[in-house]
Amino acid sequence: MIDREGSQYTPFTKSLFPETESNLTEESEFDRVMRILIVEDEKGISNFLKDGLEEEGFAVDIAIDGRKGLELASTNDYDLLIFDWMLPGLSGIELCREFRKTNQTAPVIFLTARDTVQDIVFGLEAGANDYIKKPFQFDELLARIRVQLKTRSGEQTLLKLGDLEMNLDTHRVFRNSKEIELTPKEFSLLEYLIRNKEKVCTRTNIIEHVWDIHFNSDTSVIDVYINFLRKKLNPGGKDKELIHTIRGIGYITKDR
Ligand code: CA
Repeated sequence: MIDREGSQYTPFTKSLFPETESNLTEESEFDRVMRILIVEDEKGISNFLKDGLEEEGFAVDIAIDGRKGLELASTNDYDLLIFDWMLPGLSGIELCREFRKTNQTAPVIFLTARDTVQDIVFGLEAGANDYIKKPFQFDELLARIRVQLKTRSGEQTLLKLGDLEMNLDTHRVFRNSKEIELTPKEFSLLEYLIRNKEKVCTRTNIIEHVWDIHFNSDTSVIDVYINFLRKKLNPGGKDKELIHTIRGIGYITKDR
């Protein structure tokens, strides 16, 4: 089956992921039913996804335009959201940006026929956690959904670095009890550095984990963001530096 955007569906099969074969195992993985919102204007795709995901035990809502999607996303508590990029009303990018103003934590996966590096960067910058290119295989999307949900369910909610505290639930950062406002990308970068405290994070590690892309060449965007972070974490320049440069390699964070 091929839809107007050229998406191809493959028959639903679990063979690529034998470890997910047992529904009992899957249900015990999470202690409640996970709710997913799909915002997709192509009914063929949204119904196909809804059927497949419900068969996997998820509760699924569908919106067929960006505005309705935003309304549902802001009034219900979803565990994961799937946004198409090209939507009537509000594009997937606009929808994601609006959604991130009030919810910084629920994972968002983009479905997109656009696949240049710039498009992907743009999507991730808008606050998406992952993306999947159309045409896609249901199994791949399912695997990516599970990764996002597992990452969230098993994580610590409070990270500390010296006198700095980062709350992953509320998405707030405090240093010496004073709040520091970070953009979503700065937040992700700091989170990655703190999770890898006392370890050298190379620019390649950082770009792959924080930007979710493989860059062969230009990683200077990282240095720009590190500078933003340093200024925000130590505005008067009087506190101890938390992020240290390892010349030519990357960065390291240390408690002391
Ligand atoms: Ca569309």
